[in-house]
Amino acid sequence: MARLSSRHISQLHLYQVLHAVRRNGVPMSRAEIGVPTGLSQPAVSSLTRRLLESGALVEVGVRPAAGGGRRERELALNPDFVWVVGVNISLYQLTVTLTDFAGVVRRTRSAPLVTPMQKTALVRRLVKEVRACVTDAGGALITARLAGVGVALPGFVDSMGDVVHWSAVFATDGPTAVRNFSASIAKELGVPVFVENEANIRALAEQWFGQAARLSNVAVVTLEQGLGLGMMINGELYRGRAGLAAELGHMQIEAGGRQCHCGKRGCLEAYVAHYAIVQQGQEAGLLPAGDLPPQAIEAAYDRLACAARDGNSQALQIFERQGRQLGIWIGNVVNLLAPQLVILDGGRQVAIELFEAPLRAAMDDAMALPHRGSVPLVIGHEGSEAWARGAASLVLQRLDESAEIVASASRHDFDDASNQTAVRRTAI
Ligand SMILES: [Zn+2]
Repeated sequence: MARLSSRHISQLHLYQVLHAVRRNGVPMSRAEIGVPTGLSQPAVSSLTRRLLESGALVEVGVRPAAGGGRRERELALNPDFVWVVGVNISLYQLTVTLTDFAGVVRRTRSAPLVTPMQKTALVRRLVKEVRACVTDAGGALITARLAGVGVALPGFVDSMGDVVHWSAVFATDGPTAVRNFSASIAKELGVPVFVENEANIRALAEQWFGQAARLSNVAVVTLEQGLGLGMMINGELYRGRAGLAAELGHMQIEAGGRQCHCGKRGCLEAYVAHYAIVQQGQEAGLLPAGDLPPQAIEAAYDRLACAARDGNSQALQIFERQGRQLGIWIGNVVNLLAPQLVILDGGRQVAIELFEAPLRAAMDDAMALPHRGSVPLVIGHEGSEAWARGAASLVLQRLDESAEIVASASRHDFDDASNQTAVRRTAI
């Protein structure tokens, strides 16, 4: 095993301290930071001093010590230390959020998107929307604070290699991978850019800010115009080789079956995603026939859900079958991962109640007996801001991990007395 240099150990410890404060959610004393990190008090004191000097942490109060000892100062993340941008690209909408260092969304902007698009056109559009969001929020001041951009998109994404093996948002000739998507955006904006699969992003957001906080093993399922899975295993996002893990939405359930967006036939996604439900509505004569663009698919999906709520038995059957198929699949995901929690973002709220009961029954039936009654399934719909916030948390994680931002910030001049934010030059 390669030995870690003292610089790497120092970065790791800085990350552990930042991450402990971030995950705690409320201010912590130095003694409390020592518990989850396992670091000695002298080490915590030294590391927090560096983080206070750089501006990443701030002292926010004093509390009486237990047992009448010395009073303890409380430390928190400095929200204005740096800000990050999160972008969610769906098949029909682009959402940009500006998030502070503490993970609070300061500004959101959404715009319609017509996909599939060529890479250069999508980069141009994304850069334009990010710049507009930054301008809305205060322009130059925000630009100076901006430390990175995270981008969530559906499909097979190798975030480390900067390769999108396939995504329905890109117009390509056949199964051609899109390379250097994040590098192209970074070149325009002048800050680091990280691209990641949307379900992975959502799992990360749930771990950082949501229902999976403090849990180590969680499965997050995303259902809209695709079927995504994000797997948090032993506290880490599981990406596998080339970021291609967890693509169980493309599990083949029927050889030579329905055409999936990914190019294969018979994937589960081709039976339960919104486009597949609309196709089944068309085949049943409940919706007008013909190929629809992504935006129109969502409208048609809503129309079919309304018909089911009004008691149309054919429409009801389509949603019940969707629930059963999803339920069996989620039960098998539980058998594979043994998660503490499953979260399903079920897309349009109007339709969830139509498939929830058959889904829960089928999931229960598919799970191995020891899981039954032990693995909660939370179903809801968070909206596009949650995804963009997740994309922002990807950037925060990368910044925390590298601790580069701390080293970078400490090279800049900043005004300690007024507790001003360290300034990181950008070219946005
Ligand atoms: Zn597929």
